[in-house]
Amino acid sequence: MALIVHKYGGTSMGSTERIRNVAKRVAKWARAGHRMVVVPSAMSGETNRLLGLAKDLMPDAHSAQAQRELDMIASTGEQVSVGLLALALQAEGMQAVSYTGWQVGIRTDDSYTKARIQSIDDKRIQADLDAGRVVVITGFQGIDPDGSITTLGRGGSDTSAVAVAAAIRADECLIYTDVDGVYTTDPRVVPEARRLSTISFEEMLEMASLGSKVLQIRSVEFAGKYRVPLRVLSSFTPWDIDLNEEARSGTLITFEEDEKMEKAVVSGIAFNRDEAKLTVLGVPDKPGIAYQILGAVADANIDIDVIIQNVSHDGRTDFSFTVHRNDFKRVTELLETEVVPKLGASRVIGDPRICKVSIVGIGMKSHVGVAARMFRALSEEGINIQMISTSEIKTSVVIDEKYMELAVRALHRAFELDGQAA
Ligand code: ADP
Ligand code: ASP
Ligand code: MG
Repeated sequence: MALIVHKYGGTSMGSTERIRNVAKRVAKWARAGHRMVVVPSAMSGETNRLLGLAKDLMPDAHSAQAQRELDMIASTGEQVSVGLLALALQAEGMQAVSYTGWQVGIRTDDSYTKARIQSIDDKRIQADLDAGRVVVITGFQGIDPDGSITTLGRGGSDTSAVAVAAAIRADECLIYTDVDGVYTTDPRVVPEARRLSTISFEEMLEMASLGSKVLQIRSVEFAGKYRVPLRVLSSFTPWDIDLNEEARSGTLITFEEDEKMEKAVVSGIAFNRDEAKLTVLGVPDKPGIAYQILGAVADANIDIDVIIQNVSHDGRTDFSFTVHRNDFKRVTELLETEVVPKLGASRVIGDPRICKVSIVGIGMKSHVGVAARMFRALSEEGINIQMISTSEIKTSVVIDEKYMELAVRALHRAFELDGQAA
């Protein structure tokens, strides 16, 4: 008998029929003697629908007051899901109870729309488990120190599930989704992508942070910090498949590097089309420039990703960086109205139609020439690289968005991922 957390994503919760299947699967685990906590997302499309309603009323909801209301609105999708799932479990003859984030003390900071979980009070959950109930807890939401509802950023139910698993010291957290594990790249873009039976925590962290939305980055961070055993698997297998077979399926995130992993130079390819590039042209090349440009952006609470400063000509240089595409308009305005006049720079040009493609692998630590192989594969396809960023276990390039799929496929081939066994 183990203490298990299941998380079900939006597609898995997409209709009453699918919710019934989730309930049957959870009931199977509970009847096998496991203590069960379930964290579902909103039904597919629901969070987008809710945020769309908000956008109709306020297209640029940037103020703290407005963002508070966005969270009030978006969090309701998960409240509907937990109620429906608890009902479906009761209809299966199980004892089940649903809770919202605040009812089980999921405390966060007050960064609305991207709040961070600070603590979870596990008393109520433990009491229900002791009483033999399946506990169903909302994903995606929490409560800030003032008692306002917060949300954890898109894809945040993964993080709720792992944080709950850490708080109750669960034996394993199973993330059920619409693919049967973590693949070498998004199987929707590269049909030849292969499922990995294991992936190291470090690699999963990079893949998630570089755009593989199969797991939200913070869920991987939590799993690492609290050593939560984490597995990604399919919710679309028949609910009554053998439990032991199901428990071994999918992809396990591992904390130790095994021999097989060391062999693969590149384990996966991630991409992100949510970024936009800005360039400040004709910046006087003197100390403090990077600080003055990026400091102003950071003060507006906007995250910056890849940065490039070009060599100078005649005492002037160009300075480029990327931000989230949602922040593109705001940053352009900020640069034009504040930074350009202050620095005496020439002007700002922007390109929202870029994307970032990255290769990830712990094998890169011990192999040379990996980046060169990446650049060769891209050049053979005639793809121009606009920016480059590297770390120990990844290399990212910024390219024109229209070449994204071509680049991902070319790199998947170049690093022989098509043929790699799971
Ligand atoms: P859920 O609603 O279950 O949280 P998501 O849509 O958030 O599901 O995440 C699952 C999706 O992640 C898959 O359908 C797939 O298209 C995408 N994805 C991106 N990169 C990968 C990858 N490397 N392996 C598997 N899936 C990936
Ligand atoms: N429902 C939220 C979203 O669509 C959270 C999640 O699905 O993980 O982003
Ligand atoms: Mg998700």
